[in-house]
Amino acid sequence: MPAGPSRAGSLAITAGEEIMLKDSYGRDIHDLRISVTDRCNFRCVYCKSADSKNYFPHKDLLGWDELMRLARVMAGLGIRKVRVTGGEPLLRPGIIDFLSGLKQIKGIRDLALTTNGYLLGQMAGELAMAGVHRVNVSMDSSDPDRFAAITRAPGSFERVMQGVDAAVEAGLGPVKVNVVLVRGFNEGEILGFAELARTKNLIVRFIEFMPLDADHNWDRSLVVTAREIFETIHPVFPLDEVPRREASETALRYRFKDGKGEIGMVAPVSNPFCGACSRIRLTADGKLRTCLFSLEEYDVAGLLRNGANDSTMEEYISRAVDKKERGHRINEPDFVQPSRTMVYIGG
Ligand code: SAM
Ligand code: SF4
Repeated sequence: MPAGPSRAGSLAITAGEEIMLKDSYGRDIHDLRISVTDRCNFRCVYCKSADSKNYFPHKDLLGWDELMRLARVMAGLGIRKVRVTGGEPLLRPGIIDFLSGLKQIKGIRDLALTTNGYLLGQMAGELAMAGVHRVNVSMDSSDPDRFAAITRAPGSFERVMQGVDAAVEAGLGPVKVNVVLVRGFNEGEILGFAELARTKNLIVRFIEFMPLDADHNWDRSLVVTAREIFETIHPVFPLDEVPRREASETALRYRFKDGKGEIGMVAPVSNPFCGACSRIRLTADGKLRTCLFSLEEYDVAGLLRNGANDSTMEEYISRAVDKKERGHRINEPDFVQPSRTMVYIGG
């Protein structure tokens, strides 16, 4: 059995007898991201290496039953929101049944998916039937050539765009379009994306480029900050700030003063939101990560495959959560990029 974290975890029971998982800084942890695969049909420059063969061996990937058991144990500890991600989650056969299983777990109130959209056109209806509430679709350019340069997946743009439309039609909304801006690639498209949000009544979320790319090309000068995005959009399409629904929400949100659509900015580099973070992550090979930027991870797969019962797993997970980092250290001089990059973590 792998060695567990050393301190006792903090399980608190609220007045309504609802179990909450808390970390040592008093943050409620109720949000789980599950990466179901490290495989992807795209190789986005800010995420994945051009070498597409660096995959986990199949035996290391958690099976659907194993993932489901972990999700159930974590829901028992207070997880209320689950986002399924990857790699590209829609590539993994069996994903629809898995999602509908998650939907049935007692305690899980919000089920979302992040996808590159390539298979969304054909799967949006099934996702809605499975009980998925919302999808985020990554789309970093509305120019087919630039889209191909960023994703290194020529000829995919139209399919992704159709995927966004299919998600809206299937009611998987509000559909969010995630746009990672990387200076030198797509910062000239900020206004174009604002227009897309307005015309299609979508939420466009600009995400600051984080040092989690496989090619280790991240540099502060490549980050297009939330302020820069605001200053580009606001003079053309005046914006009103939208209050956050909950403190742990990652995006700074804005509506257009004169109409439909919304934009958000996820600004972990220029405006970190770690103080209200409610998230933990489970990787496709069964490691629990308490931060995107964790340098340490917890081998829940090892525990599970060694026959641990649910209460041992609960104890192990709550101890890990208790050691959740105060925040990422991107802006500290001694910041170290984790060896696991985004495609292997799940964003
Ligand atoms: N393949 C799916 C997709 O692209 O939506 C899900 C997995 S992807 C790793 C999840 C999210 O992470 C995407 O929105 C992607 O744009 C974002 N992402 C990947 N690498 C990133 C980086 N270095 N900085 C910021 N966001 C990143
Ligand atoms: Fe694949 Fe998503 Fe990473 Fe792009 S961002 S390489 S689509 S996992």
